[in-house]
Amino acid sequence: MSVSGLPPYDDQNVFARILRGEIPCRKVHEDPHALAFHDINPQAPVHVLVIPKGRWVSAADFHANAPEAEVAGFWRAVGLVARQLGLEQGGYRILSNMGPDAGQEVPHFHVHIFGGRRLGRMIPPPAA
Ligand code: 5GP
Repeated sequence: MSVSGLPPYDDQNVFARILRGEIPCRKVHEDPHALAFHDINPQAPVHVLVIPKGRWVSAADFHANAPEAEVAGFWRAVGLVARQLGLEQGGYRILSNMGPDAGQEVPHFHVHIFGGRRLGRMIPPPAA
């Protein structure tokens, strides 16, 4: 399946640099398909990012173009990380921003895992 209009992958994006070890991170998990680390600007008591190791710009790019093994390996890692963080009993939220309407800042596909408190409304009401 092709996805039209995707920008090319930028090898200088911050998560590409973290994957290459050029920028430090507080790592919580690494396997052949995924790296998980604490967000630098946490929005909840637990706020961890999970990124695939492949060069995928966004959720749209990843789900259309990544090999099956990488898609499966990545999502298994998301579940494993949430479990290892101790979030299963209280619950957690996973979220991925895709493109400008969602406010995606870093053009390397990633999933946020939030937890550690009641997270409230999924989407805030529009500003008045
Ligand atoms: P987005 O808005 O693209 O879904 O989320 C990008 C996330 O990456 C933000 O929550 C932001 O705080 C986080 N982030 C940006 N730069 C860095 C960094 O250098 N290190 C870490 N650990 N997180 C970062």
